[in-house]
Amino acid sequence: MNEEIGGTAMMTFCEYCNKFVNTHIKKCEDSVDVKGVPIKITADGSFCDECDRRLFDRDTDNNALLMAYREYRQQKGLLQPEEIKRIREKYGLTQISFSRLLGFGDKTITRYERGALQDEAPDTLIASIDSPKAMLDILNKKRGRIPQAECEKAMAIAEDLIAKEHSGYEDTFYVETSWMTSGELCGFADQLWEAVSYGPLLPSAA
Ligand SMILES: [Zn+2]
Repeated sequence: MNEEIGGTAMMTFCEYCNKFVNTHIKKCEDSVDVKGVPIKITADGSFCDECDRRLFDRDTDNNALLMAYREYRQQKGLLQPEEIKRIREKYGLTQISFSRLLGFGDKTITRYERGALQDEAPDTLIASIDSPKAMLDILNKKRGRIPQAECEKAMAIAEDLIAKEHSGYEDTFYVETSWMTSGELCGFADQLWEAVSYGPLLPSAA
């Protein structure tokens, strides 16, 4: 812990030394079990100054868990907290409205954005409404769940984004499209646009 409060370092109880001790922080390799998957991380741990054993510490242990969740999301292809926030803010929605729109508990999005680990199903739902068309669909169907003004603002934003995607493609490209879905086509158009803006696409470019 070692938090300085009024100039006095707080001491932590060491169960091995059986007394209050000062602690120090050091990096350590850790394996954290996340939903049955062992996740290896290197994180700060709190250690007893006298016996050098690792002690429970709320802050460092919490940070290690957040780090493990981040690694787990990366491995499983789940959205990171900042991506969830980006999608929500793109439509100008509050955390509570975004939660209600998706049928989650009121605090769910707040918890996800702070680092709580989301399940696969809510993750898929949130990722899907990165598409303004999907978002507009949900806003139309679930409009009664959130304040009217907020809903109308979000709809206007989604419609604007759809219009921009559409005109961007039509004005710029004429390609044979029968073998592509509209989603693939948008992705293809974006790639072409990047190629035009930033030079030739490398074969390895994602
Ligand atoms: Zn100790």
